[in-house]
Amino acid sequence: MIKVKKSIDTLPNILKEKSTQSKHKRLLTAQKWLSSSSYKSPYQNKKLKESLKSIYNHKCAYCEQKMVFPKKNQNKSASNDLTLEHYRPKSTYYWLAYSWDNLLPVCYDCNHAKEDFFDIEGVEITEIRTNEIDNIHELASIYNSEEKPKFIHPELENLSTEFIFGKDGTVTSNNERCQYVIEKCDLKRLKLVLKRRKIIDDLKSKYQAIQTEEEFYQLAKDIKTKSINPKTEFIALYDFILANFNTIITG
Ligand SMILES: [Zn+2]
Repeated sequence: MIKVKKSIDTLPNILKEKSTQSKHKRLLTAQKWLSSSSYKSPYQNKKLKESLKSIYNHKCAYCEQKMVFPKKNQNKSASNDLTLEHYRPKSTYYWLAYSWDNLLPVCYDCNHAKEDFFDIEGVEITEIRTNEIDNIHELASIYNSEEKPKFIHPELENLSTEFIFGKDGTVTSNNERCQYVIEKCDLKRLKLVLKRRKIIDDLKSKYQAIQTEEEFYQLAKDIKTKSINPKTEFIALYDFILANFNTIITG
């Protein structure tokens, strides 16, 4: 999990449309999430999803694996299918169902694992407040300072260096909130472990084939280049490898 910048300037048109605003008003009147497909259509909008996918460099907001749009007529979801995630679950925070900073692109497996988990250590906000009705797209930082959620918001916080990777591709953390994300999104699942392990094993092979100092610096440079390219899968892992090269690659 790494920090991603998403600006209010990228607010998709669908969220500005009158039809979306009237659905939002109806949710406020009902004081609960209404689960018919009509209420899902604004955030299931293709352009909105394309925009989120591009902002997140085609990667899952939680596990950092590359995502794809589900194929037409696909009868079973693939683990890296792009799904729309509400950081604060719409089942509780129904008034944030169309809030730009509450919408994240997340792979099918992470979304499926997380369900509606959202534990907080602060004071729960139970309804929208009058001064927030015209400002629903930038509430996350205010809400997080009051509610102190255990779950990390990828657009507000950078805790990527708190993740600890094993040589075998496993992940853990001494940070309680990172550990919470690992558990709730199941970032230890086998498919992800194997993907991360392949990166480590490939680098190990390259390291073992090195014969000159020059080749060593080239390998270090290649890892650095990967780690600063926002499109790279598992940037947090590359950063960890750079900081712990002796234990994870040469050890
Ligand atoms: Zn994921």
